[in-house]
Amino acid sequence: MGRYRFIDRLVITVEGGKGGDGAVHFRREKYVPKGGPDGGDGGKGGDVYLVGDRSLYSLIDLRYKRHYKAENGQDARGDLNGRRGRDLEIRVPLGTLVIDEETGETLGEITEHGEKLLVARGGRGGFGNRHFATPTNRSPSKRTLGEMGERRRLRLELKLLSDVGLVGFPNAGKTTLLNALSGTSAKVGDWAFTTLTPNLGVLYTPHCRIVIGDVPGIIEGASEGKGLGLEFLRHLARVKVLMFVLDATADPKKQMKTLLREMEAYDPSLLSKPRIVLLNKVDLIEELPELPFGYIPVSAKTGENLDRVRLTLMKTVCPLKDRR
Ligand code: GDP
Ligand code: MG
Repeated sequence: MGRYRFIDRLVITVEGGKGGDGAVHFRREKYVPKGGPDGGDGGKGGDVYLVGDRSLYSLIDLRYKRHYKAENGQDARGDLNGRRGRDLEIRVPLGTLVIDEETGETLGEITEHGEKLLVARGGRGGFGNRHFATPTNRSPSKRTLGEMGERRRLRLELKLLSDVGLVGFPNAGKTTLLNALSGTSAKVGDWAFTTLTPNLGVLYTPHCRIVIGDVPGIIEGASEGKGLGLEFLRHLARVKVLMFVLDATADPKKQMKTLLREMEAYDPSLLSKPRIVLLNKVDLIEELPELPFGYIPVSAKTGENLDRVRLTLMKTVCPLKDRR
């Protein structure tokens, strides 16, 4: 278990390779002093790509190198074309948002392993003099130079994607639970919205690493865009497993019904995600209620049964992840 910096930001400069220059050259023929023009073309400069890599979790590896440039295209040599410059691939963690620092424009978001985003094109290679022969000028000495590669300042922002979304009413104990499970210390309070911005915790298990998202509590009408609910529902669309947190002191059956109804109204496919149901605050009740669904009785406060929750999370979530 441990703390994690959830949103990581970083600015880097990326630059495509310069195109190679074209050449001036004339065909050598035995009895002709100056043959036709055959100067080669310069190679294109390499492109720069960002590539999603699921084995990375932060932008920390990029922190020490801020300027990334792809290889230049080779200049033409005589009648030989220059070789193309090699592309440069910068590996980034999944969930990286890519923003053009100058314009503020979002260039893309990398969410899949192996997904590639072109961020700086290499310059075109120059033309050799063979392109410039005309009926009136059979021995042109004109050629063009390679173009510069594109250059951009990029702002990278990492938003960790949660594997598990906590679902529950305000005050059910989601933040307390997240802290107890992951060792983070997000603010806990007694009022309705204890967590105002998405907040993540990380649970390290022997088999995989599990990111748990505690997002603004669902409220009735969330699916109609009321309050903070919509952002919450959007977040849920991307998690692998839903973990319901029901308050044992306040009609858990009704809470479950309302939560499911809200989710269904927003996106029925949410209901097909695997669920883990926790009945929280059991330290405050005398006996466990009979409910029409299975649940794990827990107390986020005393830590009762949290080991069982960790085990269940590991068994449910780890097989759904590729590797971690
Ligand atoms: P959230 O709105 O779902 O994030 O709920 P919080 O984690 O902020 O908790 C709301 C209140 O319930 C806080 O006062 C917590 O201390 C309290 N609480 C949370 N879990 C438990 C529990 O298992 N037992 C008891 N007695 N209180 C709890
Ligand atoms: Mg909270």
